[in-house]
Amino acid sequence: MTGAVVRLLSGHDKTVREGHPWVFSGAVARVDGDPAPGDVVRVVDGRGDFIAWGHHSPGSRIRVRLLDRGEDSVIDEQWWVERLSAAIGRRRELMADPRGACRLVFSEADLLPGLVIDRYGDHCVIQVHTPGAERMRAITLELLGSLLSPAAVLDRSDAEQRRLEGLPGVNQTQDTSASDHTPAVRISDAGLIFDVSLGEGQKTGFYIDQRLNRAAAACWAAGRRVLDAFCYTGAFSVHAARAGAAGITLLDSSRDALDAAVGHLALNGLASVPTEVRRGNAFADLRRLRDEGRSFDMVILDPPRLAPTRSQAPKAARAYKDANLFAMKLLSPEGILATFSCSGGIEPAFFQEIVRWAAKDAGREVQILQKLGQPFDHPVRLDLPETEYLKGLICRIL
Ligand code: SAH
Repeated sequence: MTGAVVRLLSGHDKTVREGHPWVFSGAVARVDGDPAPGDVVRVVDGRGDFIAWGHHSPGSRIRVRLLDRGEDSVIDEQWWVERLSAAIGRRRELMADPRGACRLVFSEADLLPGLVIDRYGDHCVIQVHTPGAERMRAITLELLGSLLSPAAVLDRSDAEQRRLEGLPGVNQTQDTSASDHTPAVRISDAGLIFDVSLGEGQKTGFYIDQRLNRAAAACWAAGRRVLDAFCYTGAFSVHAARAGAAGITLLDSSRDALDAAVGHLALNGLASVPTEVRRGNAFADLRRLRDEGRSFDMVILDPPRLAPTRSQAPKAARAYKDANLFAMKLLSPEGILATFSCSGGIEPAFFQEIVRWAAKDAGREVQILQKLGQPFDHPVRLDLPETEYLKGLICRIL
């Protein structure tokens, strides 16, 4: 703690006073004491009254990320270690399976701005996105080592997010283990197994946040012909196949992902379930399937993040609507649509509205059977609506 002070403009302190943990650059009147990136600063209102301690990020639109509203709190490494231990402790229930995968730290939602840690079996993947979290990298790794003794810790920070915070490119393997380490980790998820590539230049390999939603969707799969659009490595399909799906159609633009999906069905003893593989642009292919006269009894629609922020929402809304519209057209009467959006820029109510537009254009009555969101290792922080990004609807298309 350097004694540096960030003073807010009068009238610009309301949202942070009410609990929002970000100070935007436009709300800052003055910075005293020349704090470096990642320094802990004292945030005060226009009159000089204390609001909170926070991490300074001079290169970012989010100038300060608030850490602690206690004026007497000491924000040092010990403070960080306590928060980190608490976050990991909250996942106790998920740690029993040594091959399980879960999120250990979810940044602001776990009161640790800029830090994300995922666990895949005995491996950890960390993401460090702010100068403040970067300062705490060494102590973070030390604590992970002492609490979990991971086989390796890999850095999969998002280069773009780091750039927005004025941070240099991504570090790779952090750990003492071999530097050419590109591990494939076999994880288990609800009794199913998946091979996850965590190495450099590869995608993270497994979307942990959809864990419970796959189980929810699988409840409807028995006896149904399932189309898994944007299937990636097939996790929804493997769940659906185990639940007794009559057939699986895998659709994705990535050949590697499709190969992995087929491999995962076999790995779980489900190779006998009739499986069709389609590689292509799913937005176009959903339409094409319809033109081919195909129909399905269940469609899973889990597109990539089309609107990371609200400004991209209008364009993304059209893409979501079209995908949902064509999915509905492909569904037999009383068919099930499990539709998702992981776009932070699209709020749950808006997503539901988009699905309603699709239903209207498809000329179908639609029932919502279940609303889905994030599992508890990806908590939503009430004071930071931005932490709520994943939503899903299981619908019956009459
Ligand atoms: N449902 C998956 C996760 C989907 S991630 C799971 O549960 O694991 C999004 C997927 O969409 C990625 O596999 C990506 O390759 C694929 N994708 C992105 N754009 C696409 C497009 N236009 N057409 C088809 N697939 C696309």
